[in-house]
Amino acid sequence: MTDGVEPPELTADRILTLDDDRFTTDSVALVTGAGSGIGRATAVALAQNGLAVAATDVDEEGLANTTEKAAELDTGGEIHEIAGDLTDDEDVRRIVDEAAEVGDLRYVANIAGLQHISPLPEFPMKQYDLLHDVMLRAPFLIAKLVMPHIRETDDGVGAIGNMCSIHGHTATQDKAGYITSKFGLRGLTKSIAAEGDGPLRAFTVSTGYVKTPLVTEQIPDTAEERGISEQEVVEDVMLGESQVTEMMEPVDVANLFTFGFSKYGQHLDGEDLTWDGGHLSTYE
Ligand code: NAD
Repeated sequence: MTDGVEPPELTADRILTLDDDRFTTDSVALVTGAGSGIGRATAVALAQNGLAVAATDVDEEGLANTTEKAAELDTGGEIHEIAGDLTDDEDVRRIVDEAAEVGDLRYVANIAGLQHISPLPEFPMKQYDLLHDVMLRAPFLIAKLVMPHIRETDDGVGAIGNMCSIHGHTATQDKAGYITSKFGLRGLTKSIAAEGDGPLRAFTVSTGYVKTPLVTEQIPDTAEERGISEQEVVEDVMLGESQVTEMMEPVDVANLFTFGFSKYGQHLDGEDLTWDGGHLSTYE
């Protein structure tokens, strides 16, 4: 791990809380990837906003730590742990069924993901399939299963937020599998919006690099692939194109999901919250 990119502590003062009549424990937010990084911060932040959170991950220990974190912050909402593997359709169906048993399933944050670094000609198809299954196929199946639940609520209001990336807008070297999935996720998001008729919304969240294990663990591989030092990976590759040179924290991303789900996000539909410190819009 490189200095300055250690995953940070989540503290209550960084969590955005919003006033929304639907933000009660009657409403359920399903959060995937809730056992680590951005997913954990989002699960805790939504619980802090008073929601019942159905927190799912393949990493059961990670999920338990998420519940522990929410308890430590004494959030007003609830966390319900549902372990499962998003590459298994039967698990996905069970996860959605169990989330719907908790209450009115209105919100989904599809956050689970993983990275694989390899030049395209050598990209292992097994890794391609895994990235695709977790980051695109599972969100598709979840949307398919959850949309009827949102429509069944008293007012039919809900939203599906999909964790995208600057790599869902532009491409860089050695991440072809990831980039392909993230571009696809924006297509899925627009399709949900097109069929959601307004009350059922969808949006993506796109960030640059965020201080999570997914990022800190890819630094050595990227350094090796490009023949540069780990420090150069952080300063030149990760933050080199960004005007804001402070790396984002998971809670900064969690706050975008809270905003997107809330009544204040009513006109956010099919589009993207691009929170990238200027990365995609500027260059020097
Ligand atoms: P992370 O590695 O900290 O967390 C990812 C979680 O997904 C882990 O808990 C993991 O167990 C879970 N997961 C992976 N495969 C799974 C499977 N088959 N079934 C169920 N759960 C599974 O990563 P993170 O940085 O928090 O990333 C979360 C999301 O944010 C990913 O979709 C990633 O692409 C996206 N993202 C991250 C960054 C960043 O810089 N960290 C930037 C842009 C987008």
